[in-house]
Amino acid sequence: MKITLLPSGRDLISSVAEHLHPPDKDYSRLWVVFSETRPGHYLRRALAEREGSAFIPPVVDSLEGFVNRLFEEKLKLRGRLIEPLDAVALLFDIHRKTPGRLGGGGFLSADSFFSVGLKIFADLEEVSLAGLDAENLAGVDGLMGEALPSESLERLQSLAHFHGHFYKDLAGRGYSSPASRLRAVVERLRPEHLSGVEEICLAGVYVLTRLERLLLRKLLDWGLGRLFVLQAPGWESLLETLDLPADIAFPEESRDSPPAAASRMIKSPDTHGQIFALNKSLEIEFGDPARLSEKQAVILCASETLFPLYRQTLARLPQETYNISLGYPLSRTPLYSFFDKLLELIQTRDESRRVYAPHYLRFALHPYTKNIFFPSPERRSDLTRILFHAVEEALVGRRHKSFWDLEEIEADEGVRRAVEERTRTVPGAPDVAAFLEHLRDIHARTIRPFREVLNVEDFAGKLIGVLETVAQHSTARLHHFFQPYAEAMFRQLDGLRASLFRNVSFEDAASYIHLFRKVMRSGSVAFAGTPLRGLQVLGFWEARGLPLDDVSLLDVNEGVIPSFSRPDSLLPYPARRALSLPTYEEQEERMAYFLRALLGRARTARIFFVENHDREPSRFVEQLLWERQKAEGRLGTEEFIAGFEYRVDLRIGKPEAAGKTPEVAAALREFRYSASALDEYLRCPLSFYYRFVLKIREPEEVALSLESRDIGTFVHAVLQEFFGPCVGRTLREQDLEAGRLRKALDRRFREFYGGDEVGSAFLFKRQAERHLEEFLKRYQIPVVRELEASGRSLVIHSLEGTWDVTREFGGRMFRFRARTDRVEHRGGRPYVLDYKTGAKERYHALRFDKLDIQSRDSWPGAVGSLQLPVYSLVLSRALNTPPQKLVCALLMLGKSVPGREIEFSPFDFQDTATYLDQLGRMEDLIGRLLGEIIDPDEPFRPQERGREICSKCSYRTLCL
Ligand code: SF4
Repeated sequence: MKITLLPSGRDLISSVAEHLHPPDKDYSRLWVVFSETRPGHYLRRALAEREGSAFIPPVVDSLEGFVNRLFEEKLKLRGRLIEPLDAVALLFDIHRKTPGRLGGGGFLSADSFFSVGLKIFADLEEVSLAGLDAENLAGVDGLMGEALPSESLERLQSLAHFHGHFYKDLAGRGYSSPASRLRAVVERLRPEHLSGVEEICLAGVYVLTRLERLLLRKLLDWGLGRLFVLQAPGWESLLETLDLPADIAFPEESRDSPPAAASRMIKSPDTHGQIFALNKSLEIEFGDPARLSEKQAVILCASETLFPLYRQTLARLPQETYNISLGYPLSRTPLYSFFDKLLELIQTRDESRRVYAPHYLRFALHPYTKNIFFPSPERRSDLTRILFHAVEEALVGRRHKSFWDLEEIEADEGVRRAVEERTRTVPGAPDVAAFLEHLRDIHARTIRPFREVLNVEDFAGKLIGVLETVAQHSTARLHHFFQPYAEAMFRQLDGLRASLFRNVSFEDAASYIHLFRKVMRSGSVAFAGTPLRGLQVLGFWEARGLPLDDVSLLDVNEGVIPSFSRPDSLLPYPARRALSLPTYEEQEERMAYFLRALLGRARTARIFFVENHDREPSRFVEQLLWERQKAEGRLGTEEFIAGFEYRVDLRIGKPEAAGKTPEVAAALREFRYSASALDEYLRCPLSFYYRFVLKIREPEEVALSLESRDIGTFVHAVLQEFFGPCVGRTLREQDLEAGRLRKALDRRFREFYGGDEVGSAFLFKRQAERHLEEFLKRYQIPVVRELEASGRSLVIHSLEGTWDVTREFGGRMFRFRARTDRVEHRGGRPYVLDYKTGAKERYHALRFDKLDIQSRDSWPGAVGSLQLPVYSLVLSRALNTPPQKLVCALLMLGKSVPGREIEFSPFDFQDTATYLDQLGRMEDLIGRLLGEIIDPDEPFRPQERGREICSKCSYRTLCL
């Protein structure tokens, strides 16, 4: 029995290489098996360096590849290795035919079954790899020392049922699985099958399953196998599981190994801190990348750290100076998010297959879509970007219309106009017709194919078509890692297209989409990391058995290594123990073994972890620290941990004031002031400058929900239409009929939302209808009745009026404009009314008690809005009415019960003297404000009242 124990710290690759010494440089009768494929690259290189000339290499396999080669080449067995997708399809078939099936009626469709199907497949394979079958599963409750809840027992019985049928069906359909292959190899392999093989070296494998152990024992017993075992902590339990004869003596590698270096522990506050610290640790090599070698590795315990690492480190290195070898979840890639947006758009179409505008724009403005090349005369992506931003502008302009036919967008006059305007000055831009043709073409390649889907094969094929469009006709391939993402996505989609699910068809598009998401979530992007060169960026398992001298492990955190997640299994823990299946404790031991082997070998080891309020170092870190404390007789651990902190200045800097040029001051003297301009200035002079001097407006978006300004515009339009026929005559109760209001509302709704009585627009319509009817009943009719009862009348003077006047302040004339919703006369007294769809008066309040006119600082806090003072100022002049005769008020339509009290004014109209005093103070304030605005020596200052105001300001990105 040939077992070589390698002291901790020995290099597995060179030990194996040294062991292999065939005559005539012919290694072909030697077979080397590692846990992974990657050590094979190192072995071949080591042999090539030693031989220095051509040689016939040994057969090198991973453990999985070894079993496959025995099955296919040595035993010549048939049975195509089943893909997990097909395995789930087989299981789904069994599930559908099973009376009293798992989950009752919960997993009736392929998409709902998919995730549980993957778990079942993994469990069945595990059970089979342990050499067990359906009978063992069915009888496991008798082996357990504790009673299982009935639900768990049912699951076990279901698994036994699946096991009984699955492997029969598998073989019946000409398939095999990793477990069925291994079982066949263990059962049928004889020494004569290996007649051309001199020795099989199993190096650094950590065998867990019973069938693997049986195979290994056979090879050892036949004298054909040689096991290389790294003596990292835990190696004894590996050998115990092999059930070796008691008297066996292990020849041990005698050479001295270099002592393992103590690992440096480095804690950081977050992932970026870890990478800063890593860059610092390797700054010499990163400064001179030619020094990087394949004996150096950055090991990512959490695959999501790859992107920060790429951005902060790898992007600066020449590509030929590093390798990446790890599995990265496909569902975390930008390509997945592109498809997710497309499918979201497809899933949210209405019954007429019209697309929902916000989702359409999200897809159209995705970098992969808006960079599809404009085809001729030369491939340009800028023209497509212009096109889609023009579409965005047109759709935003009519954001009340939620659903659009693709044909409507393609033929829309607004789109045509926006394209025309945006391309007028673009050199080489074709005519609008070519843009619209391009838009139709993109729709035809991406969205239109999904109007009808026949089955899974058709759906996957259409997604492949979209992938090809993006890969071949857009700038996507210039993005980092697009190629490996696209290959991985293609493999998954192609697998789905050819899978046993291919003929499944769903009634609902959502089911195809669920299936797609689940299939993609089960896939990963395999960064192969070849040819072997430079710094190795590896996943944890990819680092097994490699001769690494310098390792940096990132994210050595609890929950990552080991992970908190228990095996994703339907097998309860007690059943696992009773069946001797691997448990999470054994997984943890296996991880600890490889970690120790890695650290034992490395001359330099850095362990990075994040420590903050929700992340803590891994238990492995704690264990290493404890060992070090014991060895060095120290109580504390602080001196073994280097802290890495970086300072990010998160303080919000004070924005700079903007100076006022004489030209700006002159323009402001001629400016037409409105209440909103004065309110903006009062809120923050700097934001007034951005909005009214620089005329910077925030871009509008098609919102997912109705925004308050859309609601306001709609309600104003309905009320204008409703009261329009009543202007200039006495308003009667019969004018205020709810049926007429509903008609006005229906008409306006069609105009605003294109009659889309769906989603939030529909709910809003119902709500607006109820609310405005209440407004008539509880406010408007009582006002009319009250006036009639006292012999007076209500006459609407104007709706949606614009009033321009000039007024003198401080010896200078200023221009003012006021826009009013409604001006009416009640018994001859003019009322100026403004509709507000909100309910909170405090935003419009004037706190005269808080106002100290001499103290500039008191103004913003005391004045909610200058709207009513400006109305009074403008309308008293425009209507030629003394201010004390004019009532200016807001109608707070957003109140839950819109009664008489919705009429709000901060002025005291009951007491004329008080009212005139209040008005006088407001006019004084307006005059001072205007004086400040036009003062050339007074810059536009940022507001001083605190961050909260800035946090809600649209200009914060300009300012802070
Ligand atoms: S971010 Fe603050 S200081 Fe700047 S404009 Fe807006 S409110 Fe004024």
